[in-house]
Amino acid sequence: MTTETMEFKTEQKQLMDIIIHSLYSHPEIFIRELVSNACDAIDKVRFEGLTNESLVKDDSDWKIKITADKENNTLTISDNGIGMNKDAVIENIGTIARSGTKAFLEQLKNKEDTNQPDLIGQFGVGFYSCFMVADKVTVNTKMAGENEKAVRWESEGKGSYTLEDSDKQTRGTEITLHIKEEHKNFLDEWVIRNAIKKYSDYIEHPVVMDVEREEGEEDDKKTVIKEETLNSQKAIWLRSKSEVTKEQYSEYYKHISHDFGEPGEIIHYKAEGTLEFTALLFIPEKKPLDMFGGTPEPKSSLNLYVNRVQIMDDCDKLLPTYMRFIKGVVDSSDLPLNVSREMLQENAILNKIQSNLVKKVLSTLIKMKDKENEKFLKFYEEFNHNLKEGLATDFTNRDKVSELILFESTNTKPGELTGLADYLERMPEDQEYIYFLVGDNREVLDSSPYLEVFKDKGCVVLLMTDPIDEWALQSVPEYKEKKFKSIDKGEMEQTKEEKEKAEEKKTELKDLLAKIKEVIGDDIKDVRITTRLKDSAAVLVSDDNGMSANMERIMKSVGKQGMPFETKRTLEINPDHDSIRAIQKIFENNKDGIEDYALLLYDQALVAEGSQIKNPSAFAKRINGLLAKL
Ligand code: ADP
Repeated sequence: MTTETMEFKTEQKQLMDIIIHSLYSHPEIFIRELVSNACDAIDKVRFEGLTNESLVKDDSDWKIKITADKENNTLTISDNGIGMNKDAVIENIGTIARSGTKAFLEQLKNKEDTNQPDLIGQFGVGFYSCFMVADKVTVNTKMAGENEKAVRWESEGKGSYTLEDSDKQTRGTEITLHIKEEHKNFLDEWVIRNAIKKYSDYIEHPVVMDVEREEGEEDDKKTVIKEETLNSQKAIWLRSKSEVTKEQYSEYYKHISHDFGEPGEIIHYKAEGTLEFTALLFIPEKKPLDMFGGTPEPKSSLNLYVNRVQIMDDCDKLLPTYMRFIKGVVDSSDLPLNVSREMLQENAILNKIQSNLVKKVLSTLIKMKDKENEKFLKFYEEFNHNLKEGLATDFTNRDKVSELILFESTNTKPGELTGLADYLERMPEDQEYIYFLVGDNREVLDSSPYLEVFKDKGCVVLLMTDPIDEWALQSVPEYKEKKFKSIDKGEMEQTKEEKEKAEEKKTELKDLLAKIKEVIGDDIKDVRITTRLKDSAAVLVSDDNGMSANMERIMKSVGKQGMPFETKRTLEINPDHDSIRAIQKIFENNKDGIEDYALLLYDQALVAEGSQIKNPSAFAKRINGLLAKL
């Protein structure tokens, strides 16, 4: 065969451009891609060798070798796997997003063979990630089988590739990367070592590299080249629980968590059935020390693997944010990772894995609370904020999370905690609500006048001193059909006269109220007459169970805007206020003439309570409109 030059198809060129420039956030993962391809290739030939021994008998010392050549700026990754012939190279390497692995698996399905190799990845584009660091890539490969001819493929990743005969004698594939000037660090032993440790440590086959080491006595030192294995090849999570010692779990926990302490609880299980994955989760004993101050906590501390190859660290799709304290790994074999491993955003399988993991974690904690209460109390002291965050955000599992929440109460000594189930058990049958009171500290709460009548009746009130408590409870309407009620909040008491007057005003201003509601629209729940204002024209009021303006501001300040706990409030209008009277007058003459005033009423109510106006420039414009009329 003379050298043939072939063009990539247009859409392939575009796709390649995307891969090289934007697909991967960390260039070093090309090592992971190539190593996992090599591992796949070994799995394939090993599998074929089961029925056709001649394919593997001359060489079954499975190995992936990395060679860095600093003089020539090349990095070579070679394997003694299945290799490729010309057709396979054109089909697999010359065609992006056409996964040979997938086709191979398809074939195996029909064979109904239980001895299927553990194949890594069905990604289709992984190989091309090497063009992130290389300006030329050579693939020198020989397929398993007596009559197969070796072939050399070469490309600069720009639009075409060449193919020619090769004199490679041994089975397998050798991929040589001509490293770009700016990525020369990938020729460094320690960079390679770290990347393998980080991404491919648990690959089953040895990943080896020749390293230079000095040997001998002081005056007789020799530099020798030694082959070293870079990966530990141990996937602790894939072993059965009985095979792993406490020390091994602990060592692995420390390795992934950078925690010096022991794990508080270990959850290690394999999900089988419609969903197959293995999870090894650790609940730490202590919150991580924020020694340097202000390092933001990651949204997750779980690593996602597909058949032992790390796809993503701190994968925030595996557990909800409130469970970010949990460390560990999830290894799945049925994740369809099509284009990118880092774009698993809305993946249905990941969602299912997540809901399975959450249930497991919650049931473990509930068991701990029931069976090892002291241990649970220690855990609660460290992580109660996370659970309370879960109470407010995890609607699906609210019942279970509620079981884990504890508070002080008028019935407990300072510092002692009680659960909601306990509260319910002790309360008289005819008690309608779960009462609570929020305050700065226990001492202040204990002497609060609001408690007097409750103490008198022997009615227990939950006492909350953590700012997060109110926030968490706001979004929980009830526990076991009993509503929560803050004892210093609630409907305004009205005298008979006040009530009558309000009714009268309501009838009189009915059309105006409706118009204001129509103008402001969905931002508010309703517009009604108030009896609680004297000097102001309007105010926003939350429902009994609604979130207070203060709470909403806290939420917004932590960036939870637009989350389901943002509640609509009611605009209350003071009918005796001069401006309301004036607006009413205008309204009587021109039903459409009060639009700006209605919006101003709403905006100034927001300003008065310290909230932000949605559209400040529109607000300013309206004010100026009014001033201009003077
Ligand atoms: P994927 O591995 O997801 O299929 P890649 O782009 O990484 O996608 O590789 C494309 C195909 O090229 C693989 O499916 C495989 O058939 C072939 N291939 C890649 N590397 C090797 C290798 N080292 N040995 C044999 N075949 C390989």
